[in-house]
Amino acid sequence: MNTAPLSFDTLLSGGTVIDPVTGVNGRYDVAIIGGKIAAIEPDLSRRPARETIDVTGKLVIAGMIDTHAHVYEHVTGKFGLNPDMVGVRSGVTTLIDQGGPSCMTIGGFRNYLVNTAESRLLCFISCYLVGGLEGHLYPDLYGPNGVNVEHTVRVAKENLDIVRGIKAHAEIGGQSRWGLEVIKTGRNIADQTGLPLYIHLGQLWPSLEEGPVPDADELIRELVPIMKPGDVLAHPFTRHPGGFVSKEGEVHPIVFEAIERGVRVDVGHGSHFSFEVAKRVLDAGVRPFTLGADLHGYNVRIPSATDAGERESNPFFGIAPFSLTIAMTELLALGMTIEEIVATVTSNPAIMVRMQDQIGALKVGRDADVSVLEILDGKFKLSDNSGVEVVSDKLIRPVFCLRDGVRHDSNSPLIPDAIAA
Ligand SMILES: [Zn+2]
Repeated sequence: MNTAPLSFDTLLSGGTVIDPVTGVNGRYDVAIIGGKIAAIEPDLSRRPARETIDVTGKLVIAGMIDTHAHVYEHVTGKFGLNPDMVGVRSGVTTLIDQGGPSCMTIGGFRNYLVNTAESRLLCFISCYLVGGLEGHLYPDLYGPNGVNVEHTVRVAKENLDIVRGIKAHAEIGGQSRWGLEVIKTGRNIADQTGLPLYIHLGQLWPSLEEGPVPDADELIRELVPIMKPGDVLAHPFTRHPGGFVSKEGEVHPIVFEAIERGVRVDVGHGSHFSFEVAKRVLDAGVRPFTLGADLHGYNVRIPSATDAGERESNPFFGIAPFSLTIAMTELLALGMTIEEIVATVTSNPAIMVRMQDQIGALKVGRDADVSVLEILDGKFKLSDNSGVEVVSDKLIRPVFCLRDGVRHDSNSPLIPDAIAA
């Protein structure tokens, strides 16, 4: 009788596994059979494997989940990126599109993207009828007339396998036009669907020229009381007005109250990210629950000189190329531990989308979504969009990922080159 153990399809050999859910932290082998994780043990080298990948010195974590993606390609115009460039070809196995699809366009998102991408795609459906067309470039589309609660609730409930939350914006351009009316509509949609509400902070639209310019600090004081446990406040490190930090330079006390109540914080890096604001917020004791790269068509390329007018008219143009792993490197440079950072891209996002029994952890029997990263030593230049530069002695880079056991090398053109300091 043949008692030889079943051979592995893939063996990731000798990597440093960090998994916040199981508490595994150290040198382990990870084996895959039939697209599922078959074993995680200190040494599996005696078992036969069809393919052994030596990942000695590399970091092996659950497939990364980017909580803030914009990948409704083509439909959202220049804004939406190719999902697999942001996803599996950047080492990220799951993407949560924030507010691209709406009740009117979710069908296209499912058929053209969810069903065809190699990356796992979920979304927070837009509370606006038009979704994230051209990156919310035309504010007039986002007023109270651009919302239909009944339609959005119905469509969200019909698509709960991919719709995991509701996306809305709280920012002073909108406040100058409509007050909090649209946000309260988003609250209503979230309540009727039982899904978390994800709120963008930081100025997006110019304020109306006529009438008083609203107080950015007042906005967050009005907003936070309507946030509930499991809801998400995004862009805490924004360099734009209307974020966590007041005009006086202090973190609003109401933010701590909200976190105490179970409201979560997503970095939503984008072109918002400011080292100075991040340091202030982290020093005040706020810990982001999730990371979220917020890459989109306006912030992944450096605008040319001829784009100057376009750049001024759109606060989201970026001059500092980034990615999810650059954002992880920045959190490391700001003093967060690698274990905390791994949680912001694995176990915590899984909780945010209430899929912690399926994704976000390395466990035997689960789909083999695994990210393999390297942490380079050296002197690397990191920069933000307010012109601040920081030298980091580490740089986190994706090497490859497995999505359902299938290998995807990290060769996306969106991964910025390392910049030596
Ligand atoms: Zn965004």
